Amino acid sequence: MKKNIQVFDNVLQLIGNTPLIKLNRMTADYDGEFFAKVEAFNPGHSSKDRIALHIIEEAERQGVLTPGDTIIETTSGNTGFSIAMVSIIKGYKCILAVSSKSSADKIDMLKSMGAQVYVCPAHVSADDPRSYYEVAKRLHEETKGSVYINQYFNQLNIDAHYHSTGPEIWEQTEGQITHLIACSGTGGTISGTAKYLKEQNPNIKIIGVDAYGSVLKKYHETREFDHDEIYPYRIEGLGKNLIPTATDFDIIDEFVKVTDEESAHAAREISRTEGLFVGYTSGAAMQAIKQLNEAGEFKPGDKVVAIFPDHGSRYMSKIYSDKWMDEQGFFDSKKVSTIETIQY
Ligand code: PMP
Repeated sequence: MKKNIQVFDNVLQLIGNTPLIKLNRMTADYDGEFFAKVEAFNPGHSSKDRIALHIIEEAERQGVLTPGDTIIETTSGNTGFSIAMVSIIKGYKCILAVSSKSSADKIDMLKSMGAQVYVCPAHVSADDPRSYYEVAKRLHEETKGSVYINQYFNQLNIDAHYHSTGPEIWEQTEGQITHLIACSGTGGTISGTAKYLKEQNPNIKIIGVDAYGSVLKKYHETREFDHDEIYPYRIEGLGKNLIPTATDFDIIDEFVKVTDEESAHAAREISRTEGLFVGYTSGAAMQAIKQLNEAGEFKPGDKVVAIFPDHGSRYMSKIYSDKWMDEQGFFDSKKVSTIETIQY
């Protein structure tokens, strides 16, 4: 077995070049070959390492940032963790304005990575001065030598994936990829990766994954913002209640919507059958593959790549908790065996 025996100067050198791993069991009966781009292999355990590093290094190139300066963002999720990690190595302060809905675990995780966390009330509107958007904007205006990452509206988010994820997948599939399947949140992953891939071969089909309760699929089809599409859902990091400029809707061929319940079961199935411990949206991407397969999308010879954005460890109190699954009613309709703990 080949092992990576290289020595690295710091953890940032391990960002990107994530493995493409064949899905052997879950797609065994499907036409075509199916691969996962497993982004949990990034040192911050998600695809967001790529954008954190790219956006911060771009600010350095433009002379906006010098050591001791401050990076600001509004997220308690993967992006916050990645920015905190990059900030440590490069010597920046990291400020994250998060919603009071964020779990204590998530806030502790960000603090463990040295971030200064501002917890802002969740119940106020986005333009309220106390909202995490407004707090981040104000801190950015007031802090000399600060960069506001603003991932939903930053073109460098697309750029990061255009320069890394896209070329990696092209090389790993030796130019044979026929379909790209990626969850869309900010849209940076799908838009940047698709831009590179379509430049190599415009026939590659680009399929976005959206959540029920999000406006993206409808907006893609109508270019109209339909408020009725928006309602609460559980998957984090997928779908949106606004239209991000970091999404290039023209490059996406089609969106598939997936449910909270089926995505949660799909993530658990990937862990148990493929031995890949992945996050909730990886389950969403897998669920999209299942639905597309049922719709007859794939044929023999196809090479399908799905992006699996993050690691399962971030969801221990959610999809990997039988108690949580039960509370959501996710075990009601589907008789799924859970593994009993044996008290000895
Ligand atoms: N999955 C997870 C877990 C995420 O955190 C995100 C980012 N919001 C996505 C998928 C979607 O990636 P992108 O923002 O690049 O569309």
